[in-house]
Amino acid sequence: MPKMKPSLRLTKSPSISTKATSAQPHSATLVARPRVSAKESSVASGIVSRSYVVRTFGCQMNEHDSERIAGLLDAEGLEAVSEESDADVIVLNTCCIRENADNKLYGTLGHLKTWKDSREGRQIVVAGCLSQKDKDVVQSRAKWVDVVLGTHNVHRTAELLEHARTVGPVTEIYDEAVQDDHVLFPSALPARRETTYNAWVTIQIGCDNTCAYCIVPSVRGKEISRSSDDIVDEVRRLASLGVTEVTLLGQNVNSYGRDLTLAERQAGGDVRVRPLFADLLRSVGSVPGIRRVRYTSPHPKDMKSDVIAAMAETPTVCEHLHYPLQAGSDRVLALMHRGYTAQKYLDRLAEARRAMPDIAITTDIIVGFPGETEEDFVRTLEVSAEADFDSTYTFIFSPRDGTEAATMTEHFVEPSVIADRFDRLRVVVERSALLRHEARVGRTEEIVVEGPNRKREGHFTGRTRQNKLVHFASHEPLRPGTYGTVEITRGAPHFLEGIFREVLAEPSHRVRIPVAVAGH
Ligand code: SAM
Ligand code: SF4
Repeated sequence: MPKMKPSLRLTKSPSISTKATSAQPHSATLVARPRVSAKESSVASGIVSRSYVVRTFGCQMNEHDSERIAGLLDAEGLEAVSEESDADVIVLNTCCIRENADNKLYGTLGHLKTWKDSREGRQIVVAGCLSQKDKDVVQSRAKWVDVVLGTHNVHRTAELLEHARTVGPVTEIYDEAVQDDHVLFPSALPARRETTYNAWVTIQIGCDNTCAYCIVPSVRGKEISRSSDDIVDEVRRLASLGVTEVTLLGQNVNSYGRDLTLAERQAGGDVRVRPLFADLLRSVGSVPGIRRVRYTSPHPKDMKSDVIAAMAETPTVCEHLHYPLQAGSDRVLALMHRGYTAQKYLDRLAEARRAMPDIAITTDIIVGFPGETEEDFVRTLEVSAEADFDSTYTFIFSPRDGTEAATMTEHFVEPSVIADRFDRLRVVVERSALLRHEARVGRTEEIVVEGPNRKREGHFTGRTRQNKLVHFASHEPLRPGTYGTVEITRGAPHFLEGIFREVLAEPSHRVRIPVAVAGH
């Protein structure tokens, strides 16, 4: 795939409208300008000592994009603050997976009008999936928004802010990623990470699937994998800064690399077209200094034995699989275009448990997909009970404009029926979670310390390798990122409790990492 010269950033002339266009963002003139240092840039742009807050709605992808937005603003000389009242710039990084997110955003923007009017020079940025979806609608519903930028425009945040200061409100949304690693993969931009010991690493953007309910493919574009060399290099850099845990991010991580091998083959290479995720897990898992590797999300239709084997054989890969079921009825799974049956899902789960007996399984389930009958829903209960989940994220079906499921209006399920099903599913899942957690009582588990428990003096929170939240007592102060052991004394549906036993490893970061700039 051709790349733009890394030493140049393409930007539009400030005098032109930067309205959404196409894959190549440029229906208008482009000005290529050399990248400048943070200091030069902040002096040149006159934004020294301005401050910002980033508010994130949505998933880990969005949180990761927010880290990049913050890193870019840091690099331009803006200062991060925690309170909106102290900020000159507020960035709302939005999500549009479910309807609530829209209402929440427009409600928040309503409140922010007063915030903006109360101090000269304040700016509001709306970024993320919802701005990608709504495009011009954001500024037409909230004229006081200064910058609207899409999912492929994160790298332009600082320039667009400056553009809006001099020229006025701006919307810039590319329909697809432009061919530059800085644009494609948020991990290749500077970042402000909130924690020092763990980090997200994007391995893939977009999604080529066609799940009938899902808006992700239309707001995140087609699936593009990042090269494994780039990923491993980034993990090495993170490890050298003291990061010990990485979470690999993608919408369908099991298909990671299929596009890379296809491109290689099309270029005449003697390679088999295949996903490379199992290989990637092994490579990332063997980076010195990395103690824990996680990933999200795999797609059951693409889960193969090689990934399970790589998980089982790579000691740093954690015993946790987030494995989205969505529905237990084969009829509903087919309507959703998920590409697997409940039995195939359960068989793969059994295989994962045989390979890693202590693995925790979490899932996503949608309740009330159009046409879901009582019989279909009972299958979801049965499959959930058989899967014996450690926890689930249960979503109420939300019609998203532009998706197939949104057109199935005559089959929409009554809200009261959905509410009842939601509760029944919660009971089933909480029962299995509680039993699984109680079975851990008396065991000594490895945890990484997240921080002090603000509500209980002398208590901390941490995570086990199975990604379970543990509240535990400790006589000694423990820094975030410390590895230790905890004896589990109680299991609840959503957490464990325990007593700290011993330190296994002190945090290895030497400095806090306010800005980690990728080595491009
Ligand atoms: N790529 C991942 C997968 O296929 O499992 C999930 C991505 S999506 C960001 C996260 C979850 O949101 C999905 O697993 C699904 O359960 C839920 N979701 C997506 N669209 C939805 C909709 N229209 N209504 C309700 N839940 C939805
Ligand atoms: Fe959405 Fe399906 Fe892609 Fe997941 S795999 S992001 S649910 S389309």
